[in-house]
Amino acid sequence: MTPELLITVGVLALQGAFSEHLQLLKQASQSLPKYVQWKFIEVRDVKALSLCDALIIPGGESTTMSLVAERSGLLEPLREFVKVYRKPTWGTCAGMILLAEEANRTKKGGQELIGGLDVRVRRNHFGSQTESFSTPLDLPFLGDKEPFYGYFIRAPVVEHVLPPTTPASALAANTADTIAAPSKKPIDEIAASFASPDEVRVLGRLPVSKLTTAPGDDNMAEGRIVAVEQGNCLGTSFHPELGRDVRIHKWWLEGVMDKVERKRAMERVR
Ligand code: GLN
Repeated sequence: MTPELLITVGVLALQGAFSEHLQLLKQASQSLPKYVQWKFIEVRDVKALSLCDALIIPGGESTTMSLVAERSGLLEPLREFVKVYRKPTWGTCAGMILLAEEANRTKKGGQELIGGLDVRVRRNHFGSQTESFSTPLDLPFLGDKEPFYGYFIRAPVVEHVLPPTTPASALAANTADTIAAPSKKPIDEIAASFASPDEVRVLGRLPVSKLTTAPGDDNMAEGRIVAVEQGNCLGTSFHPELGRDVRIHKWWLEGVMDKVERKRAMERVR
């Protein structure tokens, strides 16, 4: 069958584990319907970003990534990609921090956020590099009972799911080490249809046995939130690209396929 749908997926390649994501994307795409032709590209500038239908922001160091993005003129285009054009975007670890509307344990002036997920994340929740760990996770959205091994490396957790209507900056203004992403509106009704007005969907939690205490959290009893989805955005605290399991990449690409097909159909009848 000749491919009928070309979809370009970018991986932000300013810093961090981008080549691992590209590897797993290629592998995962092999078991997807053949009418889609996938193109996977590294994104380092605005031109490459403009070619993308969807994007992964990898793990690495969110402070460095936001600084480099700003210097290379990519920060605002990234915000537009995620929040104005509402294209599917997945952030892993540092990438999830950048997609959060609020993050704490940040240096004022040292880091900027893209936003897109109505959550507040706590950076480096589990401590330093030496406190990294891997653990089997129960991720029901994958549709099978096989646990997924999550690698947590100086990983963040979602400490708070924000009410969708609350402007993040108003909430964050109160605390010294918390920063917020600037708010933006979808460009048109098609983009708006991908901006989920509903709440953040919690897709995965750490087992309760992995609870490390911190005051003021709203998810202590059930286990820490480590995977969330809202509208066009997905965030995972851990690194699925560091293992060999392609299930999350495949699941995400299936979602990308649906969204891109839906968007192109809407554009045709406009
Ligand atoms: N601690 C890093 C940060 O704050 C994230 C670590 C990672 O992506 N593995 O950006």
